[in-house]
Amino acid sequence: MSDPTATVYLVGAGPGAPDLLTLRAARLLAAADIVFYDALVHPDTVALAVNARKVAVGKRAGQVSTDQRFINRNLVEAAARYQTVVRLKGGDPMLFGRAQEEIDELKAAGIACEVVPGITAALAASAQLGISLTRRGLARSVAFATPRIGPDENESAWAASVLNADTAVLYMAAGQAPQISAALIAQGKPADTPVVVVESATLPEERRIHTNLAGLSASTLKLSGPAVLCIGEVYRATTALADVDHQARMRERVAQTRATRCQSR
Ligand code: SAH
Repeated sequence: MSDPTATVYLVGAGPGAPDLLTLRAARLLAAADIVFYDALVHPDTVALAVNARKVAVGKRAGQVSTDQRFINRNLVEAAARYQTVVRLKGGDPMLFGRAQEEIDELKAAGIACEVVPGITAALAASAQLGISLTRRGLARSVAFATPRIGPDENESAWAASVLNADTAVLYMAAGQAPQISAALIAQGKPADTPVVVVESATLPEERRIHTNLAGLSASTLKLSGPAVLCIGEVYRATTALADVDHQARMRERVAQTRATRCQSR
């Protein structure tokens, strides 16, 4: 039997930087008896659970991961032994986070469950780029989608959702960039649609790659961290800005070199 007062909290840890956490999440971590955390959660965030037993249940594509049924069972069992159980998930729990499986399992076992939202990767990437997903005059709709299909899932219409939205952010997609580009171009998305790949958004190692759909097909992205593909006309300005920045820096460097030469004469 589970402790009738036990609650399992599915908590969003945010995209990476530990200070992008809600106060509610921080409070629950401080009060937690046990924390099950994902691979993408920053160690400093996990460390906020000062009194808790900490259990890693990493689920990263292509790497050894913990089976979802095992995680579900663990949560149910933990609710029998502990009062405050935290399931700490990267970004927001309700987006590509398998939250529903856990919620359903807990409900079926009669265990109280609450969800605490977090900042999802798409919103963190937009903040970092300084580009609005819904820039006035260019974008009125946004799609969060993934081309990844699990072994037990049906075909998805992810490409159609990207075609129908003004701006799209693709999760779990960087590994299949050439296929994504080919699929979207084949279905009518212009090959020069701007794309920004944002890797490890909000972390010190963050990287951005500015390209377009055609460029995406040519590049094999060599990424070591998690990345989102941001697609849409709103990013054309970024491409231009990045170019301008680059040109300005180059001009500055040339000017500095000239000045140094003048001084040494
Ligand atoms: N629930 C999470 C998403 C989990 S799926 C959220 O709301 O953000 C994992 C995917 O999220 C990764 O493959 C990547 O596409 C994206 N992601 C997570 N953290 C990221 C980060 N810091 N920068 C860029 N993409 C990230």
